[in-house]
Amino acid sequence: LAQRLTVESTGDEIGRLAATFNDMIARLDASFRQVRQFSSDASHELRTPLTVMKGETELVLRRDRDCEDYKSVLESNLEEIDRMTRIVDELLFLSRADMGEVKMASAPVRLEELIEDIHGQASLLGQEQDVKVSLGSLDPATVLGDELRLRELLLNIVDNAVKYSKPGGLVEIALRTDQGMARLSVRDQGIGIRQEALGRIFDRFYRTEEARTHTNKGTGLGLAICAWIAEMHRGRIEVESAPGAGSTFTIVLPLAGSKA
Ligand code: ADP
Repeated sequence: LAQRLTVESTGDEIGRLAATFNDMIARLDASFRQVRQFSSDASHELRTPLTVMKGETELVLRRDRDCEDYKSVLESNLEEIDRMTRIVDELLFLSRADMGEVKMASAPVRLEELIEDIHGQASLLGQEQDVKVSLGSLDPATVLGDELRLRELLLNIVDNAVKYSKPGGLVEIALRTDQGMARLSVRDQGIGIRQEALGRIFDRFYRTEEARTHTNKGTGLGLAICAWIAEMHRGRIEVESAPGAGSTFTIVLPLAGSKA
């Protein structure tokens, strides 16, 4: 894409300058590549539901059908529309976040209360898939931040844990504090994530093959949003996983009043 500088002697200042320049070019190259990959992924993810809708609609219109046939196509179309809406909403959110247009409140949030609050909602989600959502020990922990966004972050992680569980599985949410940080963990006994994929699951649109086979309910954008919310709270998300045995996602956030 861009030209590198070739400088014969590398020991002197000019050599170092050239190396820095080439390094900058390499990074620019990488981010251009990322943007191209992103546009291609986004188009593909939006194209798929359109293709499904078009195919089903054409088929049902080809000859006279009874009401039930039309109804089932409309129902399926509605699902695809919901999926596209979710993708577009999440993309809009991420692009507003990229441009610094998403406001973050900064008020004390008691995580143990947030977890207890979400537990009911999470249990309902679990019931639909025969997955039990239980609470482990919850140490009191208060962080400074945006309660709605933190709720969204936690719900997303719990939703994934349920979604990638097997029937009869267990999801456990726990909260500890350690060295000025709150550690909110969500452990599942689901499909797990291969080591090679761990570094990519926070990328926009990335979904593992195992996840795609397991369910088509996913956009690959949730964790990108989660990572952004954690970062805005000066925190991070850690993942440990064993393929076939389960995963633990830990949201690590600085406690209110700590300098961590
Ligand atoms: P999706 O909408 O596909 O769940 P996310 O951005 O939330 O997208 O997650 C990205 C990918 O990370 C998923 O498609 C899946 O491959 C993997 N993943 C996330 N959470 C889990 C989990 N609890 N167990 C196994 N894989 C997971």
